[in-house]
Amino acid sequence: MVINFLNRPSVPSDLRRVHRALVLRHIFFAPRGSRAQLARETGLSGMAITRIIRELIDAGLIEEAGKSNRKGNPGRRQTNLRICPSGGFVIGVVISAFGHEAALFSATGKALARREMSFESIQTAHEAIEVASSTILAIIQDVNIDASRVLGIAIAIAAFVRTGTGTVTSAPYLGWQQVELGRGISDRTNIPVVVENIADAINMAEQAKGAAVGFRDVFLAHQSVTCGASYSHEGKLVRGANFSAGQIGHLTVGESSLVCSCGDTRCFNCHASGWSVLAHLERIDSRCFEAGKIKSYAMALARLVREDPKRGTPEGDALFHAGHQWGRTMQEVALIVDPQAIVLAGKMSEATAYVDGCESAWQNAPDKHGYKPPKLIVGQVPAIQAAGYLALDSFLYSPQLDLDGLISDGTSTRRGGMR
Ligand SMILES: [Zn+2]
Repeated sequence: MVINFLNRPSVPSDLRRVHRALVLRHIFFAPRGSRAQLARETGLSGMAITRIIRELIDAGLIEEAGKSNRKGNPGRRQTNLRICPSGGFVIGVVISAFGHEAALFSATGKALARREMSFESIQTAHEAIEVASSTILAIIQDVNIDASRVLGIAIAIAAFVRTGTGTVTSAPYLGWQQVELGRGISDRTNIPVVVENIADAINMAEQAKGAAVGFRDVFLAHQSVTCGASYSHEGKLVRGANFSAGQIGHLTVGESSLVCSCGDTRCFNCHASGWSVLAHLERIDSRCFEAGKIKSYAMALARLVREDPKRGTPEGDALFHAGHQWGRTMQEVALIVDPQAIVLAGKMSEATAYVDGCESAWQNAPDKHGYKPPKLIVGQVPAIQAAGYLALDSFLYSPQLDLDGLISDGTSTRRGGMR
């Protein structure tokens, strides 16, 4: 999944890198762990753990964080370990109809600086790549950190993406086709890049640190101007043969008075999307979806969601009705993929009346021969944070991590001979 344009190893053949990543991830997800606990949880030997911890401390990635009593053995004290926030940094970028922004994250996932990227007057993908790259470099300069510790960039984009190469195969609202986004930004910033579809990025972030922690079979519906989805089975994304899995917007649901971007009047997009609500409320001027207007649809939708209309008003009722339709269709989807949880994400998940509609459909699910619908979860990870986690997952808590590069940057005298 991770692409790396700087010729660092892309296939981790080194088992040490894998073990190191395993230990780092454990400390990230369960701070206050001890060496003994790590050995138990990772299955690595005590000796291996001791060596890896030494390396990670030398590289400035983790630190000892005081002592505590051992569980069940109050007489013995253990040394706790935690991630060093300034041990490594990553950049997260979001490109969607609702805005374009970049943010710098610490090793613990905290956003340290954010910047909007204005693509308003931009005509070409080439120009967008220039703007994104210069924004990223400006953020790094702004925050006065060791730039050599910026490990990677993750871009979450509302588009179809070939993640292996970082190619945006199609981004309808930007009018992009076959854009080498990852390579373009990596070449200009000299930092490795991973590019991911926005729904997929949010899905993985919800499982790592959001509302879907503990679930690994998750169907995430990204309800915004249009409807998209991401599905992960056993913690792995299912992308489809053409990298276009999850196009729920064009599921045939039933007749409507609206015309979807595909020309059909029966699509899920015509019933449960933000665009459909705007069209029914006549907040936009046409009942036919026009791809060139996605930006203005997004602005109108952001306004409507900010108003947060209650049921009993035309706006609140339209949102509730669309949410109810979402819930009914998701029950059909659940019959096909049988996920542990269905996550509602995207702009619509911020509208109370829409969420109420979704939940009402869930509560009134028809009994299909004893089938129990999966848990319905409202997502909580914003897209920019999801991009940050994706970058951390790809470049820090990953076998991709180049530890030697961190150790030899002057923070340690233990150069060479470490691997
Ligand atoms: Zn359609």
